[in-house]
Amino acid sequence: MPESKPVLIVGSVALDNVRTPFGEVEDALGGAAVYSSIAATYFAPVRLVGVVGEDFPEKHVQFLASRRVDLAGMQKVPGKTFRWSGYYEFDLNQAHTLDTKLNVFQHFRPTIPQQYRDSKYVFLANIDPDLQLQVLDQIESPKLAVCDTMNFWIESKRDSLLEVLKRVDIAFLNDAEARQLCGSFSIIKAARQLLEMGPSVVIIKKGEHGALMVSESGYFSAPSYPLEEVRDPTGAGDSFAGGFIGYVASTDDISEANLRKAVIFGSTLASFDVEDFSLRRLSSLTTKDIAARYCEFKQIAQFEALAANG
Ligand code: AMP
Repeated sequence: MPESKPVLIVGSVALDNVRTPFGEVEDALGGAAVYSSIAATYFAPVRLVGVVGEDFPEKHVQFLASRRVDLAGMQKVPGKTFRWSGYYEFDLNQAHTLDTKLNVFQHFRPTIPQQYRDSKYVFLANIDPDLQLQVLDQIESPKLAVCDTMNFWIESKRDSLLEVLKRVDIAFLNDAEARQLCGSFSIIKAARQLLEMGPSVVIIKKGEHGALMVSESGYFSAPSYPLEEVRDPTGAGDSFAGGFIGYVASTDDISEANLRKAVIFGSTLASFDVEDFSLRRLSSLTTKDIAARYCEFKQIAQFEALAANG
């Protein structure tokens, strides 16, 4: 994909302990930047900005490098890698955090390599909003800046998060986060409030119920893929965002019509991610798999217009 614009991604690079009703993994490769980077690489080259500790296995570095993720912006420093432990019960839309250890992220100051500063497509994946702001300060003139976050940061860094929202073009949140941030029960109302906070487009992820894109010009409602086997929803939101921005970068087209296609590609990548633990399924896709599922999405959502007088 030499002609595709690269996507710059900053966010957590993690070792996760995850338990679901269908199994568990320990010290598995995870993190918002990792899931979103792998999803984005199906469309565009990725420049990853993050930090890991000395305990981060070399095999994970090799894996990322083998997927054409440029690691010039990923620092390895003394200390331990970010760790997240969580579990899901039968409602797989609801992640329960057991423990979050920021470790090396606590003192991390992102330095964007000179050759990354001209990045046009920037994804501020889930991480401390102060770090997201430091990244934005170093990018010369992004064409599309997109952010994501989670309840942890809404609770602990609300003001910084509001600053991030002022400076991005698109904000991703899940439905619970949108309600929490805006104090509103209605998702549509929350999306409207979010638009007033800065972004021109808000994308609300609703887990197994699809996604909603809201902007001044209207709504777009994407279905979810009717999967019967879901093993681990970790990283679904990040895979969605990575697929979304990767596709937009590959087409270099930020029109409403193209953003709608990007939402479906995002949904497609997320639907693959949840089929297995960690990066297992997400990292084993072919472009044929992705195209076939995109077409199925179209089929699911298609319906006929009413006849002129009936
Ligand atoms: P998702 O399921 O898409 O919301 O994201 C799951 C990933 O988010 C996991 O791999 C975790 O390592 C990562 N994560 C969990 N909590 C945080 C946090 N507070 N900040 C950044 N990343 C996190």
